[in-house]
Formats: sequence, structure tokens, C-alpha cells
Amino acid sequence: MSVGNPIEEKKLQRSPHENERPAIAADVRVTGQTAPVSGIYLVEHTNHAGGTTKQETLILKGAVFPGCAVCGERLNFVLRLPVKHITEDPDFRP
Ligand SMILES: [Zn+2]
Repeated sequence: MSVGNPIEEKKLQRSPHENERPAIAADVRVTGQTAPVSGIYLVEHTNHAGGTTKQETLILKGAVFPGCAVCGERLNFVLRLPVKHITEDPDFRP
């Protein structure tokens, strides 16, 4: 943040190129959906035991996103880094 009124600056600098992220990213997946690609996903748990937890984990393409093992609540999964499993990579033979 620069000096000055941040709200005013935001209005003045509005342009077609602004890269503000929407409040809810379009690529958020939830418990019960299937992973579209293999990769590192950020797992967000917003109401676990009264608090929010976040951790990154590797999930393979086609896997069903799990729920919280403790409270059974729905989780959010955000793809951070697509990573091909070696079995999905045509550069390698079995
Ligand atoms: Zn939980």
C-alpha cells in the first residue's frame, strides 16, 4: 500500500488491466467434486472447530476431494500448482 487514501487511489486507478482477484475464485473446488488435474492444492477449512485451517497437499487427477476427517465439514480446494504424475506424462514409459 502506498501513502494516501487507499480507497480514493483504487477509484482513480481503475483500468481494464487491474488484476484484482474476485472474492470467490472460479477455480475453487469443494468436497465431493473430482480433481480436474493433478497438482498441489490449497485446502481451506473455514469453520473447523471455530477456526480456519489451510494446508497444501498433492491430489491426483480423478480423485474425489475429501471432507474434513474430524468434523465432516466441506472443504475448499484451490489449485496452486498443476503437477503431472509420472503416469500422466507421455515422456515416460512404464
Ligand atoms: Zn474440520
